[in-house]
Amino acid sequence: MIQTVRGTRDILPADMPLWHRVEDVAREGFRRYGFQEIRTPIFEKTELFARGVGEATDIVHKEMYTFIDRGREDREGESLTLRPENTASVVRSYIQHRMYADKSSGESTKLFYTGPMFRRERPQAGRYRQFYQIGVEVLGTSDDPAIEAEVIEMLDWFLKELKIPNTTLLINSVGEPATRAVYLEQLRRAIEPHLDELCGDCRHRFETNPLRVFDCKVESCQKIILTLPTITDSLDDGSREHFEQFKAHLDARGIAYTINPRMVRGLDYYTKTAFEIVAHDGLGAQNTIVGGGRYDGLSETLGGPPTKGFGFAFGLDRMVMALPEEEAELLRAADAPDIYIVFLGQGARNHALMVAKELRSAGLAVGMEFEDRKMKKAMTQAAKSKARYALIIGDDEVTSGRYGLKDLTTGEQEALSLAGIAEKLK
Ligand code: AMP
Repeated sequence: MIQTVRGTRDILPADMPLWHRVEDVAREGFRRYGFQEIRTPIFEKTELFARGVGEATDIVHKEMYTFIDRGREDREGESLTLRPENTASVVRSYIQHRMYADKSSGESTKLFYTGPMFRRERPQAGRYRQFYQIGVEVLGTSDDPAIEAEVIEMLDWFLKELKIPNTTLLINSVGEPATRAVYLEQLRRAIEPHLDELCGDCRHRFETNPLRVFDCKVESCQKIILTLPTITDSLDDGSREHFEQFKAHLDARGIAYTINPRMVRGLDYYTKTAFEIVAHDGLGAQNTIVGGGRYDGLSETLGGPPTKGFGFAFGLDRMVMALPEEEAELLRAADAPDIYIVFLGQGARNHALMVAKELRSAGLAVGMEFEDRKMKKAMTQAAKSKARYALIIGDDEVTSGRYGLKDLTTGEQEALSLAGIAEKLK
């Protein structure tokens, strides 16, 4: 038997109502906060991610699904990659379509996306090789910290609306590239004496980008990480002031946060503000549900005009896992048909098919089997469908034009015309 590839999975119908709920709430938030949807291709030129995400990141260094496309007679095939994240693609699109061209000064382009991403990570609960993200990007000429706080305010609304309990917002500033270079030297000097004690990955990070050492989850490395100087201690004045204003905007909105000076995020493009949201219930070790930050300068790296950028991505897989069980049950129950038609005898069947058509035209979700069954069996089927009502159609109902509508929760039954039923269930 052929099964799914390691690290991938089928999202089955029973879980779809939860996925739809998260997607619907996100879309409603995007509508309220003025974000428009963008869809970029699932594969792009490898160079986009190499430059955009950064050669030294784990993602580019060891997690990308990269392949050489078929060439043509006169040309070699080019290197393509299944997108490991969507920010680089959205910024590419922003540049390619000159979305900045018709904007007045200070006006932002606010985009959102949803779709699958691909990373060859070690699979575990909440970590997949194909996973789904919903994210936003605010692009333009302004790096106002109020933009950041407003985006986080929207996330705060999502979490409340989805009734996700017990989350922590972690924030940090990773400064400007110029000051970071000075700090990186300082960090290298601090790491060097411990090189023998660090894992292989950390030794590689030490060579390519020592900041990434902070991402390491290996316990023996964690002990050393705690002794290292943090970037927050050597911020430039501009970044420090920006961070202060960002915090003040959060305070004004009553949004609680924890400053984590060791949170540097797994991508190279971040400048100044970085943040994560962690969920404490329903998830195991992989409990970061949202990650984001500022990435001024990414556009320039990709050959575009000077652009400020701020955004986040949340993991849809993890957001669904974080939904409280009672909420999940309600969502699953609401997915049932409004009404389930039970017919008795071949004569009633044709009539029942027309009744189903009419009720569906009136906007109701109608369940019905095609096979003639005994009353008891048919009622069991109605109960199994989780429909709120069963509609019973036998020869008498066909002649009278009034049908037995049975409330499957209370067991009460009343005789109604089709119009009466449509009216009652509206
Ligand atoms: P990142 O793009 O790494 O900042 O990740 C943003 C969010 O995407 C994380 O907080 C997770 O919720 C989700 N995510 C990232 N990688 C995975 C994965 N391999 N499996 C499931 N969700 C993921």
